[in-house]
Amino acid sequence: MSSWENNVRKVVPYTPGEQPKEKNIIKLNTNENPYPPSPAAKAALEAFDSDDMRLYPAPDAAELVDAIAETYRVKPEQVFVGVGSDDVISMAFMTFFNSDKPILFPDITYSFYDVWAEVYGIPYKRIPLTADFRINAGDYSQPNGGIIFPNPNAPTGVLESTEMIESVIKANPDSVVIIDEAYIDFGGTSVLPLIEKYENLLVVQTFSKSRNMAGMRIGFAFGSKKLIKYMNDVKFSVNSYTMNRVTIKCGAAAVRDGEYFRATCAKIIGTRENAKKRLSQLGFTFPDSMSNFIFAKHKTASAKTIFEELKKRKIFVRYWNKPIICDYLRITIGTDNDMQALYDALEEILKEAAK
Ligand SMILES: *Cc1c(COP(=O)(O)O)cnc(C)c1O
Repeated sequence: MSSWENNVRKVVPYTPGEQPKEKNIIKLNTNENPYPPSPAAKAALEAFDSDDMRLYPAPDAAELVDAIAETYRVKPEQVFVGVGSDDVISMAFMTFFNSDKPILFPDITYSFYDVWAEVYGIPYKRIPLTADFRINAGDYSQPNGGIIFPNPNAPTGVLESTEMIESVIKANPDSVVIIDEAYIDFGGTSVLPLIEKYENLLVVQTFSKSRNMAGMRIGFAFGSKKLIKYMNDVKFSVNSYTMNRVTIKCGAAAVRDGEYFRATCAKIIGTRENAKKRLSQLGFTFPDSMSNFIFAKHKTASAKTIFEELKKRKIFVRYWNKPIICDYLRITIGTDNDMQALYDALEEILKEAAK
């Protein structure tokens, strides 16, 4: 190795789900929303004056922060925004996880957490889920430098109660606790109200799933004024202008359109509940999902085979060749038509596999 390479920060990057270039694929592999964004976002995009591209955006993204604050009935000082929740969580790691003690997160969870811990040199410890993929609150009552988990968890889709989460926060007044609510709008209850009670709680959400705008990259977080101030201090020390002008306009318009948001979430929840029935009939088992995906295992056929066979039929789902989860497929909830195509393909594949 050349000598300059000895001083390179070497990391194993996060592997996102595939984004095939081909069209006419049924894409159930990255938990995107199958419906278009709010018409209000489209209108904001069309009204955007390209002359404004000349000018820097507002560093505080106030228009977007205010729209989020009004929608969620909190103060703008309690809102942080970033380039997707990935950016928000990465900033939170940099800001809050500075202890010699390990941060804690589940062993089966969003696979970006250990990547950030590695890149920032943060010690971490993975806490096993229970056999039925639950988070045991008691496991998080050990010395730590911070805590993070998604609710519902990914890729399991399992939702934990507000009471359980509050018990974790209560047991950890000396750490920042981050709850990643990327999927909370598909039937869960946000722990957002707890930010008034616990200064050390950060609640992270995103426009990528329930707000149909993964391509715009908007994430946001709620916390006490003090917590948000600390995050902004770090953010303004790294890059002041993370949110561009188009994103700010479209995001603000979209978040104010509550009616469209609730209607599309309800559609996805309806399709998901039907998917639970259909997948059971096809011989799959899965933890009960409260997200826009189902983490399913077939009683006889291997996940890898099903994954490959679906791909041949231009249906993409997510599969990880990793211990514990290699028997499972994570299937994003698409439109009713997407799902019908999936059930038809599965029927064919399973019949073939049973021969
Ligand atoms: C999708 C996802 C995110 C990140 O989404 P962004 O597109 O960066 O907002 C964060 N956490 C979990 C658990 C996710 O599934």
